[in-house]
Amino acid sequence: MKTTRRNFLVSSASAAAGLAIAPSVTAMNHSYSGSSAGRMKLTYEPYNLDLKHVFTLAGSSRKSTPVMLTRIEFEGVTGYGEASMPPYLGESQETAGKFLSLVDLGQFRNPLLIEDILDYVDHLSPENRAAKASVDIALHDLAGKLIGQPWYRIWGLNPEKTPDTSFTIGIDTPEVVIEKTREASMFNVLKVKLGRENDKEMIETIRKVTNVPIAVDVNQGWKEKEKALDMIFWLKEQGIVMIEQPMSKDDPDSNAWLTERSPLPVFGDESVQRLPDVLKAKGIYHGINIKLMKCTGMREAFTMAKVARSADMKLMIGCMTETSCAVSAAAQLSPLAEFADLDGNLLITNDLFEGMKIKTGKITLNDFPGIGIKRI
Ligand code: MG
Repeated sequence: MKTTRRNFLVSSASAAAGLAIAPSVTAMNHSYSGSSAGRMKLTYEPYNLDLKHVFTLAGSSRKSTPVMLTRIEFEGVTGYGEASMPPYLGESQETAGKFLSLVDLGQFRNPLLIEDILDYVDHLSPENRAAKASVDIALHDLAGKLIGQPWYRIWGLNPEKTPDTSFTIGIDTPEVVIEKTREASMFNVLKVKLGRENDKEMIETIRKVTNVPIAVDVNQGWKEKEKALDMIFWLKEQGIVMIEQPMSKDDPDSNAWLTERSPLPVFGDESVQRLPDVLKAKGIYHGINIKLMKCTGMREAFTMAKVARSADMKLMIGCMTETSCAVSAAAQLSPLAEFADLDGNLLITNDLFEGMKIKTGKITLNDFPGIGIKRI
C-alpha cells in the first residue's frame, strides 16, 4: 500500500493528540509526498517594529526593535519566518542579512527533511541564532502547510493545555504603571521587570490596582544572594508566582543557592540559550525559559522542552518583541509549558500577521496549518 508522507503524519499526529482533524484542514489542497523537482527559495527583508511604550530593562531603554522577515517559497506555497534582534543581544539586520545570504536552500529538494536542512543552516556559523530561527520558523511554516497541519498537532500536543500568557508592565512612573496595569485587566498573570532600586515600589504600585498573580523577571539585576532571598520572601507575600533570572548568568553558585532556598520557582533565562544549556541548568534553577530567538528556532526549542520535562524541570516559553509570526511559532510549543510570556506582538503597533490569539488571558491556537498565521 502506498502511504504518502502527508497521510502518515496526519494519522500519527491525530492519534497521538487524540484529536479529530477538522474537515477544512483535511481538505487542504497540498498533498506533498516528498518527491518533486521544485526548489526552495529563501528571501528576506528588514523591518522595524514600533513599540507602543518605551521599553526599559535593567540595563537599557528603546522605542523600536529591528527584525528580519523571511519567507521560503516552494511550489507556490510560502512559509513565513522572522528574526527579532533587540540590540543588547548582539545581532542586527546587517549580521542577519549577511548570514541569510549564505543560506542556499536550493540544494534541498524536499522541504520536509527539516533535520537535514536545519543541521546545514546551523553549521554555517557559530552564532547568528535569531537569523537561524528566521529560517527555522519559515521552514516549519512551509512544511506544516505542505503537510496540511499546524505544528502543535504534528507534535501531538493538546491545544487545550496552553497556559495563560503574562503581560509585561514596563518600568515607569507610578502614574503610568497604574494606567498600564488598568489597561491589562484581561490578563490573568502580569510580568514585571525588577532589578532596580525601586523594586518594592513597583510591586506596591501594581498592588494598589490589582491582586492578579505577578511573574517577576530580574534580568540578572540582583547582586547579593542574601538580599535577593529576603526579596523573594517579601515577593511571595505580595502574590508573586515565579522569579526569572535573579542573578548573573555567570554566577551559577549564587543562583543555585537561591533556588535551593526560594519559596517561589526560579527560572533561568539568560543562562539557558541552547540545548546543551538545559541539563547544565538542572539544580541551578527549577525551570528554564525557552525562546526561539535564543535557541535557533522551533526544532531545537521542541527538543529542549522535551529534555527539560524529562529532567523534571519546569518550563516557560518566552519571546522578544516580535510580530505575530514568531510569537505564533512559539505558541505552538506552549501546551508543554507551565508559564508563557508571549506578549511580544501585543507591544507593537505595526504587526503584519494574524496568528495566535489571547482569549481571556489564555493562549488560543488556531487551525491554520504551519505556525498558525496569515499575512494581513
Ligand atoms: Mg527574561
